[in-house]
Amino acid sequence: MAGVILNKAEKIYPNGFRAVHGIDLQIDDGEFMVLVGPSGCAKSTILRMIAGLEDITSGEIRIADRLVNDIPPKDRDIAMVFQNYALYPHMTAYENMAFVLKLRKTPKEEIRRRVHEAAEILDITAILDRKPRQLSGGQMQRVAVGRSIVRHPKVFLFDEPLSNLDAKLRVQMRAEISRLHNRLESTMIYVTHDQVEAMTMGDRICVMESGRIKQLDTPGNLYHKPANLFVAGFIGSPAMNLLPARLFNSNNTYHVKIGSMRIDIPERMGRKTASYVGKEVVFGLRPEDIYSQTSSPTELANIIDCDVLLVENMGNDLYVHVSRDNHSFIARLSPDTHVAEDSTHPMSFDTEHCHLFDKKSGDNLTIDYL
Ligand code: ADP
Repeated sequence: MAGVILNKAEKIYPNGFRAVHGIDLQIDDGEFMVLVGPSGCAKSTILRMIAGLEDITSGEIRIADRLVNDIPPKDRDIAMVFQNYALYPHMTAYENMAFVLKLRKTPKEEIRRRVHEAAEILDITAILDRKPRQLSGGQMQRVAVGRSIVRHPKVFLFDEPLSNLDAKLRVQMRAEISRLHNRLESTMIYVTHDQVEAMTMGDRICVMESGRIKQLDTPGNLYHKPANLFVAGFIGSPAMNLLPARLFNSNNTYHVKIGSMRIDIPERMGRKTASYVGKEVVFGLRPEDIYSQTSSPTELANIIDCDVLLVENMGNDLYVHVSRDNHSFIARLSPDTHVAEDSTHPMSFDTEHCHLFDKKSGDNLTIDYL
């Protein structure tokens, strides 16, 4: 079993900076795990700790049930693909891929077999005799991935491998790496700051902030059941609307007030958060849960006249930026909605999927309701 386990793993850099705060993380055999978070949250540090390129200050790292804290990188049975490809410029694609096997004194015929097998998987057989400067960004990335495949490692580590590619190629390579995972069925740990990459590739995603895990869950759960304000704001584009609110209950109708806006919430949700009645909370609602009353055939609930600040036409969606009482939010509306900038427009807030968060801790108070 080639799972990876981090047990209270901590990293304090020599200058005293605590980059990783004792995290527990279990990556199952064959799983595609994504570490995602803003720049500086310690994604790369964790990956490098698993690779053995960074020693760990305390705690344990296990790869395939073996404690590897003191095992050098080359003996960990892992392969790492870097953002900058790190190809040797004077070697051909073939030589780059064969290099590590040569170092290990693998027989020539076996090297040839493995390089050709990897090249076929990655569709780069035709360019094996080219040097890196004769390759496109996508081809270099494939060679870099190929170099890791030939080693038949237990675990693949990817450190932002697509960030040097243009947007179109990134989408293509994203799909290729997912397919590679399906084909090889190996454990893969993938670092990115891009939440779309994380959501589309990960079996599970570990959302990090400042060296701590904020939530470890499936893409669906991160989106629909964010555990806290950080995850709610990080996952989803456009981001969830998060507004300061106060919770009220009048005759068993629970509602929040945001400025002068009153928005009713489902009674079951209100009962879950009854201890917060009278208190400040953060109200969260995704852009797709806000509708235009004028384009709805039926009467909707929670209708509020809003000032339309900006309409962004994405082709398949309109992102409509509106405000009321100095609180701004974004609605994602269907492209045939008639809504004009600088007008007042009746918006409906569908609270069936809203969230309430503790203002101080950021915890999602409504997670059990969802
Ligand atoms: P990410 O990959 O999420 O962008 P990193 O793992 O590169 O983050 O860095 C995590 C934190 O550790 C950052 O605040 C960074 O400045 C700090 N850091 C990284 N390397 C060192 C180092 N060698 N010495 C001190 N601090 C470091």
